[in-house]
Amino acid sequence: MIEPQGFARIWLWNMKLQGRMCEPVTDFGDDLKALIDQMFATLTLHEGIGLAAPQIGVFKRVAIVHLPRTYEEPWMVIVNPSVIEGIGKSKVTEGCLSLPGEGINARVQRFASVIVSYQDMQGETCKDSLDGLEALVFQHEADHLNGMFFTNHLSRFQRSRIFHNHKRSIAKRMPEDLVKYYVTEWEQERIDEQRKRSETAIGSSATGG
Ligand SMILES: [Zn+2]
Repeated sequence: MIEPQGFARIWLWNMKLQGRMCEPVTDFGDDLKALIDQMFATLTLHEGIGLAAPQIGVFKRVAIVHLPRTYEEPWMVIVNPSVIEGIGKSKVTEGCLSLPGEGINARVQRFASVIVSYQDMQGETCKDSLDGLEALVFQHEADHLNGMFFTNHLSRFQRSRIFHNHKRSIAKRMPEDLVKYYVTEWEQERIDEQRKRSETAIGSSATGG
């Protein structure tokens, strides 16, 4: 496997990621571009069709969609997205890069087509009508920004099957391989602690100065 430069490790699903809301993007500068580059590299590495920033531990309302075989314009960057209107119903099998492994997918009911609004990388507001796979991936990624996974749309029975399979597949993986590509729950906690501490330090020095 050829690894793209600058990929990020994916945060694995856990109860604390569940329900964690992302902040709106207000700054469309270099930091956003760097984040999107990193997200592209990560999605390419995993050959996925969509990725949201919280999946690499950045809790901002940014996602990318990549549908290489279906569309002329394969990449879509969506910032501060929202679904304005949903039309019809569609049930398609979904999985998620934060829930890797065998048998970790299920049929999810979503709107078949959606009218959406979002901002592009430059901060321009776009309004679009999407259908097919594009509509489904948009809804899946927009969910991530509200701390939701495809499992939120399943029955309790289906959810427990998915989480059971997830835990089993993680336990089976080589630790080196896991650490190279994924951020586990305990490490997520450590990163959060470090962020909190550095924010407190910045906060206190700002008031001190
Ligand atoms: Zn996902």
